Amino acid sequence: MAESQLPETVRVAVDAPQHSGLTAPLDYASEQALAPGSLVRVPLGRRELLGVVWPGEAAAPDVALRPVAAVFDALPPLGQDWCRLLEFAAGYYQRSVGELSSAVLPPQLRELSPDQLAARLRKLERKAAKSAAPTEPARPVLNGEQAEAVARIEAQRASAVPKPLLLFGVTGSGKTEVYLRAAEAALAAGRQVLVLVPEINLTPQLEARFTERFAALLPEPLAIVSLHSALTPAQRLQNWLAAHLGRARLVLGTRLAVFASLPDLGLIVVDEEHDPSYKQQDGARYSARDLAVWRAHDLKVPVVLGSATPSLESWQHAESGRYERLTMKLRAAGGDLPRVRLFDMKSLAATPGVTTALTAPLLGALRERLDRGEQSLVFLNRRGYAPVLHCGECQWKSDCPHCSAWRVFHKRDRTLRCHHCGFTERVPSACPNCGNHDIAPIGRGTERLEEQLAEALPGARVLRIDADSTRRKGELEAQLKAVHDGDVDILVGTQMITKGHDFQRIRFVAAVNPDGALFSSDFRAPERLFALLMQAGGRAGRGASGEHPAEMWVQTWHRDHALYQALARHDYVRFATDQLAERRSASLPPFSHLALLRAEARTAEAAQAFLAAAAELVQDAEVLVYPPVPHAVARVADVERMQMLVEAGQRARLQARLRAWMPALIALKKEHKAVLRWAVDVDPLAI
Ligand code: ADP
Ligand code: ZN
Ligand code: ZN
Repeated sequence: MAESQLPETVRVAVDAPQHSGLTAPLDYASEQALAPGSLVRVPLGRRELLGVVWPGEAAAPDVALRPVAAVFDALPPLGQDWCRLLEFAAGYYQRSVGELSSAVLPPQLRELSPDQLAARLRKLERKAAKSAAPTEPARPVLNGEQAEAVARIEAQRASAVPKPLLLFGVTGSGKTEVYLRAAEAALAAGRQVLVLVPEINLTPQLEARFTERFAALLPEPLAIVSLHSALTPAQRLQNWLAAHLGRARLVLGTRLAVFASLPDLGLIVVDEEHDPSYKQQDGARYSARDLAVWRAHDLKVPVVLGSATPSLESWQHAESGRYERLTMKLRAAGGDLPRVRLFDMKSLAATPGVTTALTAPLLGALRERLDRGEQSLVFLNRRGYAPVLHCGECQWKSDCPHCSAWRVFHKRDRTLRCHHCGFTERVPSACPNCGNHDIAPIGRGTERLEEQLAEALPGARVLRIDADSTRRKGELEAQLKAVHDGDVDILVGTQMITKGHDFQRIRFVAAVNPDGALFSSDFRAPERLFALLMQAGGRAGRGASGEHPAEMWVQTWHRDHALYQALARHDYVRFATDQLAERRSASLPPFSHLALLRAEARTAEAAQAFLAAAAELVQDAEVLVYPPVPHAVARVADVERMQMLVEAGQRARLQARLRAWMPALIALKKEHKAVLRWAVDVDPLAI
């Protein structure tokens, strides 16, 4: 049959390269009518790509269309709601639906033929249902605050237009139990539940908790699945299919799971909703938290955003009444919040014989806890041994030849490693500049802190957990188990250990050097620091309360800073109110709306020229374009990175301006050949 004689024309969302300017779905010819949401393979140029038949009328063809190459007809089409979500997200974050679909569907789908997929699917069906009848799970008795929260979530679920709920609960207030109950009610009503967590590392722990609770209620294999990027491609496809086919009733996952196909979705939970990892940092830079709220609104189902330190955006929505706020002030298991003590480094630093981080009072406190057999956690958000090596003779420092950054000294494997581009070399035995043998580390990372603690507290069992100690599969699980089993006295680590973990034995938490973020140029830095410290402190005193109060210890040169004063009183509300007042007077989010245009080139001048030309294209009195500035780490892997902030008072105004800008930017890029990459980041998190 000649191509043009195929009877049907279908629109297909397919991942066309950005420079082609083909951002809308493309038209193809098909022998049969195809339902919107059907997965197909279509030719594009000389390649054949995965595509999604897109809703909407195809225009009558005036040229011969290429035919659809293959149809995944064993698979039910993706729902209209899924297509709406993709359409919204692509529009909002200024990407094409084709690119976004291709990025969020399981990667293995791109490689499979329809026949191969059908064989999978058959394998999935053979994972037969167990015959065990569902039984009642064992549940703890809810306290009053929890019961009220669950009742309010249920009330929203019953409402015609449910409001998002902000579950504002202190660390250890039992938010997870609230999620479990709300999930149970939604499952009992025959709906699917989506639970998002910020960290892959937290998924096994949470999956275990949900499985333990619901294994009896949901005996089917694949009734509870996880979705995150650490799964093998085959697992990810299997779990995605289980969700799409409605077999998985509960889906736990990281940000990419917000795009899972869930035909019966009835409840979304976003745990630690303030966490920056919900924002994708490359490609389509979406916020999974914000998309979860959109998706819930679109489906008229409740979404629960949980946090002890909500994002200021969500807090403002609760203040204005757009979200319903649920407050839990008490720890569910009875322990007390740690007493926060601020230690003034100005007076402590004078103590002779100690390094500035390990002050005498801190060592004394750790020794006391050690003698009582209690666990402590020492938190330092910098991995490696020391952030830089230095030669005292010629002032050489271990800079990265490819980046505007120092290479970090890792003592265990004797390397200098760039944390930005990965460039790694053996530590030189002498200064590469002048030959001096006396090169020394400056500053301190977790590796050095671990070493110094072990030296200062002989006999203490010190364990470090960070990205370096957990590179290999299974290491993190083993290390966490050691902590839970009481085989560790002092846990040293980065923010990796401050998030979510329900440590029962820790009674003492110390932050040895958190001041850096106070003076960052990023207006969100204080918000992040406050959340991080509250979360770190939240690891202490979660078990039964002991004879001695659980404590959090913060060593700072700026004791009187409002942030630390609020922290000392566990006063998130005070902190949020102050920050929001500052943001309002400076017209910063959530009182204005931002986008960043980023550009990368071999020279800063080339990147800057592109941004300056792009700025010329915006002629709008209500949209402010700031001058281009270098990225905080301007050069990475020999590429210069510049960025330009765009601000508008109204979200819709910014959106309209960006929409008009995109095609012009694609055209502009053709004139600026020296620009390697450019991207628009809507609602950027790091400025
Ligand atoms: P959060 O997520 O708010 O930090 P978790 O959900 O981890 O808190 O709960 C903290 C601890 O309290 C957990 O060990 C949990 O098992 C326990 N817990 C939660 N709810 C109850 C309850 N109603 N009765 C007794 N213990 C509870
Ligand atoms: Zn030197
Ligand atoms: Zn580098």
